[in-house]
Amino acid sequence: MDIDKKVWEVLCSEEQLKDRIKELGKELSKDYQGKKLMVVSLLKGSFIFCSDLVRALDVPVRIEFMTTSSYGHGTASSGRVQIVNDIKPDLEGYDVLVVDDITDSAHTMNHVMNHLKSKNPASIKCCVLLDKPSRREVDLVPDYCGFTIEDKFVVGYGLNYGDYYRNIPYVFVVTDKDR
Ligand code: 5GP
Repeated sequence: MDIDKKVWEVLCSEEQLKDRIKELGKELSKDYQGKKLMVVSLLKGSFIFCSDLVRALDVPVRIEFMTTSSYGHGTASSGRVQIVNDIKPDLEGYDVLVVDDITDSAHTMNHVMNHLKSKNPASIKCCVLLDKPSRREVDLVPDYCGFTIEDKFVVGYGLNYGDYYRNIPYVFVVTDKDR
């Protein structure tokens, strides 16, 4: 990767992320009041968003992690999603909230939701930081979404670029200098 040949443009600033996650936390706390909430964070992309989101909740929450991979080239998902590391606990009686960084084609979220549904949770919903509806290949609308964005490759705040930049505290768009 030659970062010198790229333009970085901030899409969601630290302040915007903080404000929106606070709002999502309030909404989720209201909706999950009195329920048995289990958050399932999809690794690696959602680790930063999820850690901020669960700290914005004021209801009890159990947190589990799952790792998926999808085989594709470059920035596109192939639709063949694999669960690399599954969650261990029984889901019966739990209101499950699957958290991911972004829904693009939605193959990943669709696959994970169907897989977890087969474990008989009391309910299952999903929450994503970013949604790119224009790229959808599967009919899925996230139950909770931080920001709806255009078809751009985004990086930072958990999202990678060549397995780097996940630690950048804001979301930015990477484009070629000559575009
Ligand atoms: P989907 O299965 O919805 O096509 O894609 C899901 C996964 O692809 C996301 O969890 C994320 O890891 C990756 N992905 C999709 N769009 C982007 C993007 O714009 N930037 C980055 N860094 N990853 C993306």
